[in-house]
Amino acid sequence: MGLETYTCRAIVIGGGVVGLAVARALAARLPDVWLVEAEARLGQGISSRNSEVIHAGIYYPQGSLKARLCIRGREQLYAYCQSRQVPFRRCGKFIVAASETQCDTLRAILQQGLANGVEDLAWLDQAGTLALEPALRAVAAISSPSTGILDVQQYVMCLEADLLDRGGQVLMRARAEQLDCVAQGIRVRLGGEQSCWLEAPLVINCAGLDATALLATGTAGHGSEWQRTWYAKGNYFSYQGQVPFQRLIYPIPEPGGLGIHLMLDQGGQARFGPDVDWVEERDYRVDAGGRERFASAIRRYWPTLDANRLQPAYAGIRPKLRPQGEAATDFILDTPAQHGTKGLYSLLGIESPGLTSSLALADTLVAEIDLLGDL
Ligand SMILES: Cc1cc2nc3c(=O)[nH]c(=O)nc-3n(C[C@H](O)[C@H](O)[C@H](O)COP(=O)(O)OP(=O)(O)OC[C@H]3O[C@@H](n4cnc5c(N)ncnc54)[C@H](O)[C@@H]3O)c2cc1C
Repeated sequence: MGLETYTCRAIVIGGGVVGLAVARALAARLPDVWLVEAEARLGQGISSRNSEVIHAGIYYPQGSLKARLCIRGREQLYAYCQSRQVPFRRCGKFIVAASETQCDTLRAILQQGLANGVEDLAWLDQAGTLALEPALRAVAAISSPSTGILDVQQYVMCLEADLLDRGGQVLMRARAEQLDCVAQGIRVRLGGEQSCWLEAPLVINCAGLDATALLATGTAGHGSEWQRTWYAKGNYFSYQGQVPFQRLIYPIPEPGGLGIHLMLDQGGQARFGPDVDWVEERDYRVDAGGRERFASAIRRYWPTLDANRLQPAYAGIRPKLRPQGEAATDFILDTPAQHGTKGLYSLLGIESPGLTSSLALADTLVAEIDLLGDL
């Protein structure tokens, strides 16, 4: 017997912060928005395996979606956290030059941030840096007061609550396995416990690490130029005990990531990471053997670190649209204007600062859908 077919107005695939923000924004404009999530809980993909930092928008190329949506999304996210009582803290961060030779790079980062419109950045010389964070080893630092942290799980829960309040539906354990073009739009085959066909004139693919693979599954996604994702794993170590810092501390960035930095959680507990480890498989184990490598990276800005207090914690995987050694891509909004399938939209390569940008990404995508006549 064939599978049952159900219809709705819009299907959002993937219940991470991006899919949830998109479904929430769509549900404000459309009835009958369904979000389908492969796992048993929302937000367990990249969204729960990151640094939980609200970024200021400093590093990204001027005019890029990453720069623009990070800056806009950051203020939207602070306002949202405030209004919905999602725990957050505008704790600020320092980007540190640990030696004279790093100062030129640090100055270039400052110029990039200012050019992007991050107006509150300040250059601190050694005395100014150490007056505020005396335990640091630094010859200079950039202070970014608008950087902060949030509780991502609470954010996920609030986005879901908004979606349901607006009449949207959430299907858990519903993995999208195939996307096909049909006369009325796009047909999504759902596997697992929710096995059926779900059809809609509008389908938004926010499947994170699986988003490009999904495009290769049926007739709908074949026109996309993006058919593969490479994995850049980031490992984290937690720190047992208190650290002598008030702010997040970042080194000069490394290729593929922002460098092994110090993050604080809402309770002031510290963790360090993520490194950049290009991998073939999705394996979230953290190798304790990385402790010395982490310790030597951290000691460049915190010389008195006690390495014995570092414990393997968790890992996340960055969805890269280009392999190691090639230039990073911007956030990709893959729309019918690019690939030719009416009604199909994909958000691809949504690595950092995707969490910070999530609300702005959703608004931008909905505006694009409107513009292309699919709302
Ligand atoms: C190491 C690391 C550190 C980061 N740090 C930060 C940071 O500090 N600040 C910041 O702004 N950003 C940060 N980011 C980026 C941020 O975490 C991501 O951009 C964001 O979480 C992406 O959300 P998403 O919804 O696109 O993906 P995900 O959270 O992965 O959501 C995708 C969802 O789709 C589901 N799914 C997959 N396939 C299917 C399918 N076929 N059918 C149905 N559902 C499916 C998955 O189960 C998952 O729940 C970091 C990322 C990494 C990897």
